[in-house]
Amino acid sequence: MIEQYLVENFLYSNCEKVKRNGGGYVMRCPVCGDSKRNPNKRRCHIDYYAKYDEWVYTCYNGGCPVPSGNIQSLYAHVMGVSWKEANDELTEKKYDSEKIKAKLDKKPVFIDEIDQQGTLDLDLNDCLCLNQKPDGRIQERYYAHLKKFYISRWIPTRHNIMVAHSGKYKNRFIIPVYEDGEMIYFQGRAMNNDIEPKYFNPDVIKENIVLNRELFDPEKYIIVTEGLIDAYMVEYNQGTSCIGASVSDEFIEKLLSLSKKGIIIALDNPETDESGYNNYRKIIEQSKHARRLDYFYMPYIEYKDLNDLRINNKDIHIYNFIVEKSISHFKASIMLKNII
Ligand SMILES: [Zn+2]
Repeated sequence: MIEQYLVENFLYSNCEKVKRNGGGYVMRCPVCGDSKRNPNKRRCHIDYYAKYDEWVYTCYNGGCPVPSGNIQSLYAHVMGVSWKEANDELTEKKYDSEKIKAKLDKKPVFIDEIDQQGTLDLDLNDCLCLNQKPDGRIQERYYAHLKKFYISRWIPTRHNIMVAHSGKYKNRFIIPVYEDGEMIYFQGRAMNNDIEPKYFNPDVIKENIVLNRELFDPEKYIIVTEGLIDAYMVEYNQGTSCIGASVSDEFIEKLLSLSKKGIIIALDNPETDESGYNNYRKIIEQSKHARRLDYFYMPYIEYKDLNDLRINNKDIHIYNFIVEKSISHFKASIMLKNII
């Protein structure tokens, strides 16, 4: 058993650009030196796996000579000690007055390093949310559109979608991702079809963003959708979204550590949506975790996504429906081959 404060103490004192990430950390990889091109990349992830009672590091930088291992190996590498010494120090077998003192002083406070790039450049003064009173005729019109968007799409109000009436994201709905009450990402979705592009999003590193990360119940499945609104449709906060990107192995690994039940891939209807089809295909044929995942295909040809399913079936329990209809990798790959 390695106590988290010792892991934290080690990382923040000896590694670069350490930042909290869910229950774990991300940082510059001390093994390979991380991305040479981008000094802000943090491709090394440290996470606790309760199943094994281990702190594990994984480096996603291609060519990393030792891309994963337990925290003892990383400690040994960074501190230049043997694995056994690392283990002794991390499990406090070795007497160390500094550490005892640190423990007595309670947890030392470490400050996360901040990226030079990647800010959510949204001015909240440009936005209206549902519980705000619109100021003047123009804002009233935006407010009416926002209200209509919520009602027509059956979006629970707690997701706090806003509308931008001015500024950089003018004429867009702001579809947010919150973590511990703080907005960590958003998509700027065009209010109508005349506005291009349909999505205009802030330029931040998206790889660490997991909708509902802190809310997942490990005893339930995590449902992966394409869009954020589709993920909002899943009950118990068990929906998450790859936010318009393809589902990477890195993303899947993060989710696997957050559910004991498993992951169900529920993208846009592959029968009618080309990007849905391509994204399913990419996971089923190329992901190294493909066989560990379950899959859900929309059984109704007329619905494109989970939001369509919800709008047209007000009483449906989407989480249960997806779990019941989910299929194995084997079945999913055969079914996909039959879609032309
Ligand atoms: Zn590395």
